[in-house]
Amino acid sequence: MYAKCGQLKTARKVFDEMPERNVVSWTGMIYGYAQSGETGEALSLFKQALYENLDVNDFTFSSVLNVCGNTTVLELGKQIHGLCVKTSFDSSSFVGSSLISLYSKCGVIEPAYQVFEEVRVRNLGMWNAMLIACAQHSHMNKVFDLFKEMERFGLKPNFISFLCVLYACSHAGLVEKGKYYFELMNKYGVDPAAHHFASLVDLLGRAGKLQEAISVIEKMPIAPTESVWGALLTGCRIHGNTELAAYAADRVFELGIVSPGMNVLLSNAYAAAGRWEDAAKARKMLRDQGVKKETGLSWVEEGNRVHTFVAGDRCHVRTREIYQKLEELGEEMEKAGYVPDTSFVLREVDGDEKNQTIRYHSERLAIAFGMITFPPDRPIRIMKNLRVCGDCHTAIKFMSKCSGRVIIVRDNNRFHRFEDGKCSCGDYW
Ligand SMILES: [Zn+2]
Ligand SMILES: [Zn+2]
Repeated sequence: MYAKCGQLKTARKVFDEMPERNVVSWTGMIYGYAQSGETGEALSLFKQALYENLDVNDFTFSSVLNVCGNTTVLELGKQIHGLCVKTSFDSSSFVGSSLISLYSKCGVIEPAYQVFEEVRVRNLGMWNAMLIACAQHSHMNKVFDLFKEMERFGLKPNFISFLCVLYACSHAGLVEKGKYYFELMNKYGVDPAAHHFASLVDLLGRAGKLQEAISVIEKMPIAPTESVWGALLTGCRIHGNTELAAYAADRVFELGIVSPGMNVLLSNAYAAAGRWEDAAKARKMLRDQGVKKETGLSWVEEGNRVHTFVAGDRCHVRTREIYQKLEELGEEMEKAGYVPDTSFVLREVDGDEKNQTIRYHSERLAIAFGMITFPPDRPIRIMKNLRVCGDCHTAIKFMSKCSGRVIIVRDNNRFHRFEDGKCSCGDYW
């Protein structure tokens, strides 16, 4: 109870003072730490539980695996997976779900499929974990196949399952299919929430059906949220409808508190429509909120070490080699046709990366580090806490082509697998 209410100190006090503890109390404490993002504490308590030869159960494993997934520590996750196999808990669908999301979040989808195949009795959570993994990795056809299979097994898809198929439709530009799934929610008695509407509007908007998107919004039984208008804004931006974009921006403004990322969208929408004063107002709102901008970070795992980079970073011990690698690669990339688009620096880049030279955005430093460190046949896996900017996305495509390497980038939005000059997201992210 204390852990769930976020009072971890009190929870720990109770835990420490218990004369006798069993697997339930240990797991409760570990789960509490895991839920609050106290990664270190969760893991060290888990180690202690193992050390004291305590019987852990599938729920304990599931909790620590979630910790590994959220912090994307793949090596440790694999070790814990090994322990699950030893103790036969790998057949539990709770453990299975956690393993699937661990592997998926760490950028490797194959072992996730394998886990899914190996667990014979699957609960809804596990199906959903697999659906999310496929969606994150752009295996859109697999999303549809799984959904069908789920129905065949007589499982009732829930709101998460539907979010996944709608997302897949939107990503693949399948308008009719998207509408079909949206209608299907009715049949399963799932009330569409704001996110489902946002997904449908996103699908229609990207396909250029802006009027239809508007009429969906007008008929919504619940009040449209920022995410719904944001989806419309995206469609307007793609199809150059500045007037409708400004209209959507006005509606967002009426909602009052706006998230920092949205303010940038609004400001751009107004600027595109020539409403400079409103654009300035949106920018000012962002400043007034005193939002602490998140620092852009990219990190890469090497054995048991994690190397973290910020834009323009010169702190790493191998800085000279990293910049030299970027220099060399830059020349090859330009020969291959890469032209840096610095307008992204003004338009889309969040946080303080804006002020840094685009060539040294954190993900590029991390990739260069990977190139000088890992053997050529090993994919380079990078994690980033912000969205990858448009120019870096283009640049990384060229990096993969010129170096012949597979580069996997997980940003705060999705996965990108770059290979031979192409990205798995199909430039749709
Ligand atoms: Zn960038
Ligand atoms: Zn991509």
